Amino acid sequence: MFAELTGNERVKAALKRMLVSDRLPGALLFTGEEGIGKKLFALEVARALNCRTPKDEEACGVCSSCTRIAKLNYPQRDDAEEWTQIIWTNHPDVGLVVAPKRVLRVEQMRQIEKEANFRPFEGKARVFLIDEADKLNDASANALLKVLEEPPRTSHLILITARPAMLLPTILSRCQMIRFSPLTPAEIETHLTKINLVDKKTARLRARAAGGSMGRALSGDLVTFTSQRKAMLKVLNALVVSDDRAQLLRSAEQLNEAQYKEEFEERLDVLETLIRDAWMLSLGVESSQLVNEDLTPELQEISEKLDSARAGDWILQIEDMREQLIVNINRKVTTDALFLVMAGDVAAQKRPKIR
Ligand SMILES: [Zn+2]
Repeated sequence: MFAELTGNERVKAALKRMLVSDRLPGALLFTGEEGIGKKLFALEVARALNCRTPKDEEACGVCSSCTRIAKLNYPQRDDAEEWTQIIWTNHPDVGLVVAPKRVLRVEQMRQIEKEANFRPFEGKARVFLIDEADKLNDASANALLKVLEEPPRTSHLILITARPAMLLPTILSRCQMIRFSPLTPAEIETHLTKINLVDKKTARLRARAAGGSMGRALSGDLVTFTSQRKAMLKVLNALVVSDDRAQLLRSAEQLNEAQYKEEFEERLDVLETLIRDAWMLSLGVESSQLVNEDLTPELQEISEKLDSARAGDWILQIEDMREQLIVNINRKVTTDALFLVMAGDVAAQKRPKIR
């Protein structure tokens, strides 16, 4: 049942309408950030189509079809050969493909084409999920197009991606796009409390640290997050309260110690949420609305000296830097430059192209 899934009420309503009116398109494209439940929703659609005792066109969640579709049999080993096969659920009509490495392969799309042409073995519809559809390359996208052009009536494809812009226009034009929104902290918190993973206080912190992603809330490393946040709070303090350049450069150094690009980006995310929070406080927003509500006293102190225009400008600088990170740039040079620009040592309009 869709009601069991967290968040995205609009998506639930849209999918339900399609199911009730029997107008589910042959090809759907689920887009939205990582970790917000796109795959779970796709499996729920597959269940609704194949449930033995559906209620108002929704899956009952307990019949043998529903329970078997819930389980994906991912290969146990790191063997590329196994990962290039369709990964079936315990139901013979529902499966998924993922990119074994960097790309989804042509032969995977050919398998889907072949399987999609079979009539359902057991249920009412065959459903194939294509996870990380942004990893289609030209060749595999073209192979997939063959199925998308004339999908058999009893087969449905659900493409899933956090980066729809990477898909070829020919693919996009043949799928109906369903956009998922990030989950709200409250939705995440409720879920974490419901599954009893952590105590209430931790659930709250995790929910707020997750940036709208349940995946991150469940797997996120709170110790790392807390220490990253402490470091980034120092940056903000040095910028706004103490005007301490030495501290800024030390912090730039620390930021650059991030071993991986993801870790570096996480730290930038954290810095951004802190700036936004201080900015919000300076505009008189209630502290319960903050991402880092537990740091209200520290943020309050910063907000009192923070100039709104400056905060807005910083967010732009960070966004700018993020874009430059997509192309290959020297992180160290960029971070030093970013912090100096933020500190006002280099006028933003005259700042050298930081790369
Ligand atoms: Zn069922």
